[in-house]
Amino acid sequence: MEAKTALLIDPIYREHLAGRAHPETPERIDAVVEGLQQAGLLDRLGRIDRRAASEEELLLCHTREYLRTVRRDVESGHRYLSTGDTDITSNSFEIAAMAAGGAMNAVDAVAGGKARNAFCAVRPPGHHATASRGMGFCVFNSVAIAARHAQRRHGVERVLIVDWDVHHGNGTQDIFYSDPTVFFFSTHQWPLYPGTGRADETGAGAGLGTTMNFPFPAGSGRKEILGAVENSLAPAMERFRPELVLISAGFDSRIGDLLGRFTLTDRDFADLTRALMEIADRHAGGRVVSLLEGGYNLGGLASASAAHVEALSQSTVASSSPLASRA
Ligand SMILES: [Zn+2]
Repeated sequence: MEAKTALLIDPIYREHLAGRAHPETPERIDAVVEGLQQAGLLDRLGRIDRRAASEEELLLCHTREYLRTVRRDVESGHRYLSTGDTDITSNSFEIAAMAAGGAMNAVDAVAGGKARNAFCAVRPPGHHATASRGMGFCVFNSVAIAARHAQRRHGVERVLIVDWDVHHGNGTQDIFYSDPTVFFFSTHQWPLYPGTGRADETGAGAGLGTTMNFPFPAGSGRKEILGAVENSLAPAMERFRPELVLISAGFDSRIGDLLGRFTLTDRDFADLTRALMEIADRHAGGRVVSLLEGGYNLGGLASASAAHVEALSQSTVASSSPLASRA
């Protein structure tokens, strides 16, 4: 049977910040499930199991001292991480480790040919977390850990991470800034939290040229973001030739979000998804793993994530090519 799109949907991801008034709310998971259900996607797609990342796996991208800090903050009943603006509850270490572990399971499924591509409805989000600092609602950087895991466990050499969240993925950028094997591409509103992601931040040392930032003013949308993907990312990928495409899928870049002022529509997210699938088909055997990041308008999150997953589940023109067909 042909491998299909797989989903990581699990109630465990509701438990972080349960009962707390916060925009990064457990109800975001319900919204995604409802959107997928209404689009008829829940029953016809494959599934990915949750699991916890081990300490050793978290250390792929985080420092030992930071792990100790998170554990200490959680155990001492702090309401916030001491490193930054991230609310926590007593289970936050465990649930954040589950988000990273689930992302690695998705990489295993896609790299192992069990799934064609995958979407993980996980929280807390991860892209603001640096090696040594949680911030911006993020505890562990799941997409970064997934990239390292793909390299270590599956022999993947070059990974592309595309971050279309309305906020700049400073943590992901920071972790791979000097690393030529992980290409980080981000479109984000400017100025906006966290204040990084200028166009002249392009990497350092051996990683010079494998970071690409597109800051756009409030009100930007399809023209700017799809344009950056088609006109800048796609040609850059002809040189980089990624073997795996990861998406930091933040839907706070959708029109009507509470924290962002971009104007992407559900159709735009579907087209962005297809553009990235074309890159993946061309270079990476079609392998795409997408992780939920932001998205704070629950209705918008529901419909945009459904449009994204629907596009992932459809075939692209290029996917009928021999290059993209895998066991
Ligand atoms: Zn965001």
